[in-house]
Parts: sequence; C-alpha cells; structure tokens
Amino acid sequence: MTVVTRFAPSPTGFLHIGGARTALFNFLFARRNKGRFLLRVEDTDRRRSTPQAVNAIVDGLAWLGLDGDGETVFQSKRDARYREVAEELLEQKRAYHCWCSADELAAMRAAQKQRGEKPRYDRRCLGRKHPPAGAGVKPVVRFLNEDDGEVAFTDAVHGEIKISNRELDDLVIARSDGTPTYNFSVVVDDRDMGVTHVIRGDDHINNTPRQINLLRALGAKLPVYAHLPMILGADGARLSKRHGSVSVLEYRRHGYLPQALLNYLARLGWSHGDREIFSMPELCQLFDLARVNKAAAAFDPEKLRWLNQHYIKESAPESLAPAFVECLRDAGVGEADIAQGPPPAAVIAAHRERAATLAEMAGRAKFYFTDSVAVPPNLAGKFFTADVTPALAELAAALAAADWNTAAITQAITAAAAAHNLKFGQLAQPLRVAVTGGTVSPPIDATLQLLGRKRAVERLNCILKLPRPGVA
Ligand code: GLU
Repeated sequence: MTVVTRFAPSPTGFLHIGGARTALFNFLFARRNKGRFLLRVEDTDRRRSTPQAVNAIVDGLAWLGLDGDGETVFQSKRDARYREVAEELLEQKRAYHCWCSADELAAMRAAQKQRGEKPRYDRRCLGRKHPPAGAGVKPVVRFLNEDDGEVAFTDAVHGEIKISNRELDDLVIARSDGTPTYNFSVVVDDRDMGVTHVIRGDDHINNTPRQINLLRALGAKLPVYAHLPMILGADGARLSKRHGSVSVLEYRRHGYLPQALLNYLARLGWSHGDREIFSMPELCQLFDLARVNKAAAAFDPEKLRWLNQHYIKESAPESLAPAFVECLRDAGVGEADIAQGPPPAAVIAAHRERAATLAEMAGRAKFYFTDSVAVPPNLAGKFFTADVTPALAELAAALAAADWNTAAITQAITAAAAAHNLKFGQLAQPLRVAVTGGTVSPPIDATLQLLGRKRAVERLNCILKLPRPGVA
C-alpha cells in the first residue's frame, strides 16, 4: 500500500503555525513511508476563499518547502463530483431528501428538549417521495446514519475512540442548492484522492465518526486517523494572534529561516529522545506517529529564536543573502544603498554569530548601507572625550593611508592607541561608536574593512568636527 497523506487547509488569509505543523507532519509521514503528500484547498466558503487567501497558503508552504506531490485539488472545482456521490447515496437508500424548513426543525428540537430527549432529526422526511404540502421545492440531502451500534476507531495519537451511533444525527450532506456540506466534501475527496492517513488537528476529532460512517456507506477503505494536539500560547490558551506572530510568512519577514521553523514545528508535539536539532532529511527518516504527544504543545518563541540562531550560524552566508537583503529593505534601506554597500554575504559572515534573526542582523548592519550615521548624544558624550579625540584624529589620518585589510587596520589602531597612552579597547570602542553609531558590532577590524575606507574615514572626520562636551 502506498501511503497517501494530505494537507487540507481552508484559506483564511494566511498559513498559521498550527496549519504549518499539520502540513509538516503529513509531509514527513509521507516521506518516511515513501508515499505521496497531497494538497487540497478547502475553498468552499467563496467569500473567504479569495485568490489572495489561497496564495497566502500556497506561498507559505512553498517557503517551507512543503510542496504537494501532484496537482493541488480545489474543492470549489468539484461540485459536480459531490452531487454525483450524493446521488449515489440517494439511489442506494443511504441518503434521503428532507424538506423540513428551519422553523420546523427548530420546533422539533424544542419539543424534543421539552421531553428531555437529545435533539436529533426525527426522520419525518424519510420515505417521503414528494415534498409535503406547503414545503419549499428544494430539499436538502440527509445521510441515513446507522441506528445502533457504535463507531470505533484507533487514533494513531489518541488510541481507541468510540462513539455510539445514537449520538450521531442524520447529517445534511447536500444543501438545497446542491452544494456539499463540510464533512461530505472531505469524505468524497479523501476517498477520491486515495488518502490512507488523515493527519489533522484534534479540533476535527468530533467529525471523524461522522466521516467514518459516510466512508463506510460509500464502500471506501477507512484511512488511519491521527489527530494532532493543539498548540497553546505561554498562557495556556490556544495559540492566537494575541500571542504574537502566528502567520508563517510573518516569520519569514522577521528574518526566520525555513529550516529553523521546520525544525521547531517538528518538535512541537513530536520527539525523538532529547534531541532538538534535526535536518529535513533526518526528519524524513525518523518521523513517526507513535511518538506524537497526546498532550497539547506550548509554543515557545525563545526556543524558535535559539534554533534560528543555530541555523543562521550553520548556513553558508551566500545562501542567506537574498533573505537578508529583504530584511534590509524592510528596515528601510533603499536599493541604491544596498548596491553601494559591502557584499551582503560578507556582512552576514561577520554578523552571524550575534543575531538570532536576519531582521535583527539587518537592523544592526544598516550602518554599512548608508552615507552617514547619527551618533546618539549620550554615546558621543561618553566616548568622544578629550583624551580620546586626538587619538581618533591620528587614527583617521593613518587609516586614510593604510592598506585596507584587517591586519593593517588593527595595526593602525594599535599604533594610534599606543601613541596616546590608551589601551587598544579604549580607542577601539570610541572608533566603533563613530563608525557604527552604536556600541555593538563584529570585531572592529572586520567592521571597518567591510564598511570601506572612504566611509570609515569620513565618519571619523565628521565626529572630530563635532563640538566636544566640556570644550568650547
Ligand atoms: N479544512 C480543515 C481545516 O482547515 C481541515 C480538514 C481536514 O483536515 O480534514 O481545519
């Protein structure tokens, strides 16, 4: 048997963290079993399912590298098929027309409640061939559920789950306009797509017995079900916007790497001993449903940052350059400034030990990509003191003539510091503030080398013209 999994998002405008994890687990399970991972867009809600909303999901998946195998299925294009299957069920007497109006159903439920019964469709339309007098012409189609017995299945995460058929209503499978209801389209698609493993969020666990009964009526082989635990925020509530970013593409914009997010999501509810770092090929080898946790998983942004830092350090700087440049643009650096600055990969190589995200790195590296920096007055007051500025002036002159490599730059700083009785750091830190506008940067020689002689010397000269605190 070839394993077939599917990710079946309803387009909401973005791919959220929970959806991405569901997609990842389906992808990994398919890869591990040399099977197929299919994508199905559940775009039956025409108002919400705009092309932009669909693209947001497809783009998020593409960024993560979780592309489906084969054609993406769009439910909006399968109306005829759903009608056809509803007809089959009607012919086989596994479904029937129901003409009851909303008012009639409400009155029926109220009466049942009054009698202390569980509200349930009482099948008054079962066996009717024609609309009752006064009924609207267009009926819905109801599935004729089993009366007795129970639906039992072994969930690959939660174990045995059983529910009595008496708990299940005769589900409407087609509305009066012929469009399918949610559970029905899922079932028809899962069968037609040959899905062998349904891996989805456990908010769908209540749908599963209904879907199993429908699949049985259609004579379909039942898939294995695996319902994934919820993802919670740090406060124990279901992860939502108020916990910060929940959209995958927002993480991209904030300078996270897809490998970091994938690694993080893999560990969100699944484990392999104490191990934290997994490459995608390793995950494709190791992932299994048996080690998916039953309990809800808590989203930990700090751990994601830690993993991101790990992958930034591990990656070849060139491979990060396009995403880094995106972050520079987002930080307000213009195209011309980017083109005139040092090569992005060289900046990444110098900064990658220190940044948890590429956006953070871009924020700290902006000074390379601009003509001048503004030194905050408090730093100017602290660092450009009377005993340091003569050394800075001498250094500016030395740098203007030095070879432009890290050894020569270090030597120039050492010489200027010694000539003014300063330790290396006593000159290097004011120099850093002068050229970067801040106190944190890679080693000063590498920083200057990247910045370039012209800008480094100009910035020093600019500082030296500033009025110094305490000097008239
Ligand atoms: N479209 C459903 C959702 O986005 C998933 C349905 C399923 O996986 O069966 O929650």
